Amino acid sequence: MDTFPSERTAIVTGAGSPRGIGRAVARRLAKDGWALGLLDIDGAAVRGLAEEIVAAGGRAAGAGVDVSDRDAVRAAVAEVTDALPPVLALANIAGVSSPVPYLDLDDAEWERVLRTNLFGVHYLTAAVAPAMVAAGGGRIVSISSVSAQRGGGTYSKTPYSVAKAGVIGLTRSLARELGPHGITANAIAPGPIDTDIMGGTLSEERKAELVGDLVVNRVGTVEDIAASVAFLVGEESGYITGQTLNVDGGLYMH
Ligand code: NAD
Repeated sequence: MDTFPSERTAIVTGAGSPRGIGRAVARRLAKDGWALGLLDIDGAAVRGLAEEIVAAGGRAAGAGVDVSDRDAVRAAVAEVTDALPPVLALANIAGVSSPVPYLDLDDAEWERVLRTNLFGVHYLTAAVAPAMVAAGGGRIVSISSVSAQRGGGTYSKTPYSVAKAGVIGLTRSLARELGPHGITANAIAPGPIDTDIMGGTLSEERKAELVGDLVVNRVGTVEDIAASVAFLVGEESGYITGQTLNVDGGLYMH
């Protein structure tokens, strides 16, 4: 799709947490003129954010959903998009961390992390892609992690790394299969971002430790990621697909 209609909706998952990436993405896309379908396991939080966006003159609806529940995802997407313009973008941001060492790992932890961080991206994509095909195109952006590329080495460990590597494989395959329908699919691999996902709000000491590995002399901000999502879902990014954009302060170079 070369020209976007002025009325268009982006679905953003994981927009609930107050200091999180999803919320920053939602606010940025609202500023860029997108209507927003906001999903999170914390329904009250995304409904509140939707009200805030509407009060500021935008269009938005929020619903609570566990992204690892396929049927619930389908229902929630239908609920939020009911009164909104056609869905042209999906930003898969929802995710959970997992600091459990491999030798202590049990099946329940493996499943929890894979189901949310990888199956969730698939369920959202499957729920949204038919509408994009019908509309003649769309943009899918999913959050991977530098953890997928470096084999952990951040806060989360193996199941997280596996799920986030899966997001990159899923993204490439979606790019290939959905490309003929005008749909692009890309991943973003953030380095350390100042949110609460790494076991709580980062202290200045932890930030300094994280920065030690980086080329850029600071941890990332949620706005750093939101700007990249905004770019990749934008009208001008139609020739970029199947890519992983590293927004990581130079932590991983290849
Ligand atoms: P966060 O914990 O602030 O946000 C995660 C959001 O996902 C929360 O709103 C949470 O309620 C939601 N969520 C969790 N499980 C869910 C489920 N089953 N269904 C629906 N919603 C669910 O963390 P964040 O740092 O904003 O993370 C956003 C994304 O970025 C995640 O995918 C994370 O893995 C990824 N990421 C973060 C960093 C970082 O350093 N912060 C680095 C690399 C990747």
